[in-house]
Amino acid sequence: MKVAGRAIRVLAAALVLAGCGGGDVPADRAGATKKGAAKLLVIGIDSADWRLLDPLMAAGRLPHLKAFRAQAASGRMESFYPLEKSPLLWASICTGVEPAVHGVDSFVKGSDQKPVTGSAWHAPAIWDILGAAGRSTLISGMWTTFPARAINGVMVSDYLPYGRERERPLAGLVHPDSLSEAVVACRVDPQTLSHDQLARFLPAGADLAALEQTYPQQMQKLRDIWAADLGYLNVARRLKDQRDFDLFFFYLRGPDMISHGFYHYLAFAPADWHGDQAELATFKGVVESYYEWADEVTGEVLSWFPADHPTIIASDHGFYGPRDEGKGTVEHSEWGIFMVRSPLHLPGVTFGHLKLLDICPTMLALLDLPPAVDMPGAVLAEGLTAQGQDRVAHIEKNRVPSYLALRPAVGSGVVETDDKVEEEIRRQLRSLGYIK
Ligand SMILES: [Zn+2]
Repeated sequence: MKVAGRAIRVLAAALVLAGCGGGDVPADRAGATKKGAAKLLVIGIDSADWRLLDPLMAAGRLPHLKAFRAQAASGRMESFYPLEKSPLLWASICTGVEPAVHGVDSFVKGSDQKPVTGSAWHAPAIWDILGAAGRSTLISGMWTTFPARAINGVMVSDYLPYGRERERPLAGLVHPDSLSEAVVACRVDPQTLSHDQLARFLPAGADLAALEQTYPQQMQKLRDIWAADLGYLNVARRLKDQRDFDLFFFYLRGPDMISHGFYHYLAFAPADWHGDQAELATFKGVVESYYEWADEVTGEVLSWFPADHPTIIASDHGFYGPRDEGKGTVEHSEWGIFMVRSPLHLPGVTFGHLKLLDICPTMLALLDLPPAVDMPGAVLAEGLTAQGQDRVAHIEKNRVPSYLALRPAVGSGVVETDDKVEEEIRRQLRSLGYIK
């Protein structure tokens, strides 16, 4: 436990410097939530892009995101390359360090394309940093979190939607293990989604039975993607009262997957579309209506917390549809979204932009923890109240040297794998163009 000892000294220093709690860091990582500590809700919407959201907000189709924006400081988030790799970008958001340091750099590894597992993380994520300070996190569905790690709080891995036909769920879907049954019960079988439910994504009056016959692949994609998101929504509903988590991190992967599957229908005008016009008309509205659903979910998740609860809504990159950039088709864009509501921020202001690596320091600051000197990003310095400016200046002046000593232990415990589940994951990644 020499790492833990060092880690606790680092944290103790951090807490004293941040002026929040006198440095009495509980040695027990599974310790109870610290009372009165700052709390934060994060809603991650993979690939959300103002170019899509702005017109939908203006048209009144995203009322919850629009209302939240009025309460938040908001702006663009500058991502970095390779833009097409969500796992790499989210791991950078969650650790505040570059991919060369945190080690999560792809979807799959090796010639047999093994999905990259949680042991790839060589840097502590924000939940590890909080955990060492005796504070708790709920994180669910985040990329590269199988098997779920022993954190202070609950981690529901990104493998939850897979392997539903197994007799016994894969070990490691959730930490703690005791929640396994409850979490597995939250899964949604894509085939149980009714035509009435799916109709919200398709043209009014469409004959869904006929669409399933004519466009089986598209309909299955829609089912699979939505069912996975619905499962994680159920998980969040189920666990929100489990404990008063210091960091409640709700992540929606579906908007990115839906965009990979359906954005080309949105991007093409009928005159420029060389395929079947009926197909174009059928799926043209899927991406936008999926964002309407994501907006509803955002409203629901926000409603679980006090109206002024410190909250960040962010994406890891933007998305503006298929375009040719010389080396094949590119769909992601460099500009994601960022919104922050807190007592330190001015409501309704728009700032220029922040960078992806600024997100982790900014989350830490809102949780009353200083970033580390070896995190390249800065706490967002725009959109602040006068008090917020003082606070951010204080936090920036009092960075700790490094949190890297809190990195998760490698290779602890036996990882259960299942070739069928791995193939199921590869199939989905391939069908959406994430891997070849
Ligand atoms: Zn992404």
